[in-house]
Amino acid sequence: MVRMTVLASGSKGNSTIVSSATTRILVDAGLSCRELMKRMRAAGEQPEALDAILITHEHQDHVQGMAVTARKLGIPVYLTEPTHRAWVRWMTPQKRITYAEWLEQRRASVQRSAFSVQEKQGAGSREQGAEDGVRRSALGVQECDLASVRCSADVGAEPDPEEKAAAEEAITEAAKEPQRDPAALPAVEYFRAGSGFRIGDIAITPFTIPHDAADPVGFVFEADGVRIAIATDLGYMPSNVSVQLRGCDVLMLESNHDVDMLRDGPYPWSVKQRVMSRVGHLSNDAAAEFLARSYDGGAAYVVLAHLSENNNLPELARISAERALRDRMSLLANHLLLAEQDRPLEAIVL
Ligand SMILES: [Zn+2]
Ligand SMILES: [Zn+2]
Repeated sequence: MVRMTVLASGSKGNSTIVSSATTRILVDAGLSCRELMKRMRAAGEQPEALDAILITHEHQDHVQGMAVTARKLGIPVYLTEPTHRAWVRWMTPQKRITYAEWLEQRRASVQRSAFSVQEKQGAGSREQGAEDGVRRSALGVQECDLASVRCSADVGAEPDPEEKAAAEEAITEAAKEPQRDPAALPAVEYFRAGSGFRIGDIAITPFTIPHDAADPVGFVFEADGVRIAIATDLGYMPSNVSVQLRGCDVLMLESNHDVDMLRDGPYPWSVKQRVMSRVGHLSNDAAAEFLARSYDGGAAYVVLAHLSENNNLPELARISAERALRDRMSLLANHLLLAEQDRPLEAIVL
């Protein structure tokens, strides 16, 4: 039996579990650890049973809870070496600042410390001092978390509660172990796009996707004769990706934005250009074009994913894909699902 549970999908966080009878893999960890745990339990998945975390690329909406989750569960993280390097750079920024910026940071830090002491009133004075010191060092984690690049689809959106929760979580974690390097992971395993590998009894083929990250990949998973493909965060559908998506039982495909909504929407032109570029995100039209022309029609489940909250509507994505699949879909044999940002999808079991 092979199972896929989409915990979240969208520009604010992506995470999916792919599991066989004996192996369970978390593909991306783009929500806070706390939220991931909550969603896993809600979806009937046991976090403690996870064997590994597998990462597509280093954008915040794919790695937000990666380190905390890996540490909490004591499981390895699989990613490419360039992706790992890019993530470590974000976690430990080496930024030169001007004296004026340094002064401003000091002032903000003192204000935050005062706030922190107020918050902790009633605790012993020695403890207060320690907490204060930890908070300040932990704030480095928060700042670098927030500075990380988000997926280009929703750049310019309001600061979101999920990020705040993750920053608070990073602070709590660092407060527990102040000496810990925020980029520390229990174990790191490198893979390379194009080279298959195994985790337990699941065979994995990573393939390169066109996207504005260090070394982004999609995945094909195979276990018990079932083939599952995940292809999101791609600016267009190149033939190398199209080939990988053949013969799949489950196809999770990006349907990020409606071109007109994006064009007429509130984003600055530079961001619009980036999303629409060949290293941005797949539009409803581009997904539909793939489904109509290059897709082999074999998947029992097509899951539309990574829908933009600002530049798409679930119904637009659905109608566009349904039109494209019109001649391929049999209502009994094929299912078209839409992955959601705010709640897990019911598990797909094959
Ligand atoms: Zn993304
Ligand atoms: Zn991305």
